[in-house]
Amino acid sequence: MSRTPVPGAPAELENLDLSGTALAGVGAVGSTWVHALWATPGLTGEVTLADADSKGITLTNLNRCPPFGHQHLGSSKAHCAAHLAADAGLVWHPHHARFERLGITPSLLVSAVDTNRARAELQNRYAPRMLSASTLDLRAETLRVGPPGTGACLRCYNPPEALTGDDELRARTRAGGTAAVGALAAEAGVPETEVRRWLERGECGEVGTRLLESLRRQAEPVQARFAVGFTSAMAGTLLGAETVKTLMQQPMRETEPSHNNVTFQFLRPTAHVNAASLLARDPQCPACAPAHPALDAWRRRAAAHDRR
Ligand SMILES: [Zn+2]
Repeated sequence: MSRTPVPGAPAELENLDLSGTALAGVGAVGSTWVHALWATPGLTGEVTLADADSKGITLTNLNRCPPFGHQHLGSSKAHCAAHLAADAGLVWHPHHARFERLGITPSLLVSAVDTNRARAELQNRYAPRMLSASTLDLRAETLRVGPPGTGACLRCYNPPEALTGDDELRARTRAGGTAAVGALAAEAGVPETEVRRWLERGECGEVGTRLLESLRRQAEPVQARFAVGFTSAMAGTLLGAETVKTLMQQPMRETEPSHNNVTFQFLRPTAHVNAASLLARDPQCPACAPAHPALDAWRRRAAAHDRR
């Protein structure tokens, strides 16, 4: 790793406009991204923050989300991050909602979500430019998505986790007996009699939807990929740096403009895998396959942005 600045690199960022940038996921990686941008002088513009975590900031977030503390427990992550970083040059627009629900296609979509299903949903926006960070154990990784059809997309190598079927979730609760019915009723805020009726008849409707959502939250939270806190901090910081470089139209690596992926694992810091490299698209990925109808539109959007 060279300590010599890239020749011609600016000594400061004056009025780099981030307008049109949106962050999906304000957890460990996303809150670090906000923190990194807050600490970078010279940035301006309006930035969207979206996080739908229904419990908001919990005790288990505090060792991995550097900006959040005890006084923020229960707060919406997006609103809390925006509030803490309010004195940055940037104007934050926080939303306590899934990014996909906002119905917008930003010019730069930054993914800091922690499940493959969420990544696939973000890929479906086919934003002109996208960045993503992910972590696993001691490894942090940041991807500049694309180019469309050749470089990896958000869905590449990330098959969405299988959803447990509605019938199976119901069967599991029935098998759990009175204790499972009571726990589900308490979690979903639905009377036990209604839970029993739903278990017998399996009707849809509002109560059924709420019960299924509760069961799914209980059954599937382990699918999020977790890493130790400092790995997430590394991923969020790399993501912040790549955000700034992307908006400055700088390549990830000066000498290898095609490189789109940077990995850092802490186990062996000097290992050769700790480097930028080219991550080609996953031949099995349907979202960026040559036959996918969205691919042409995505290419046009990306090309229109590159010309600006
Ligand atoms: Zn793909």
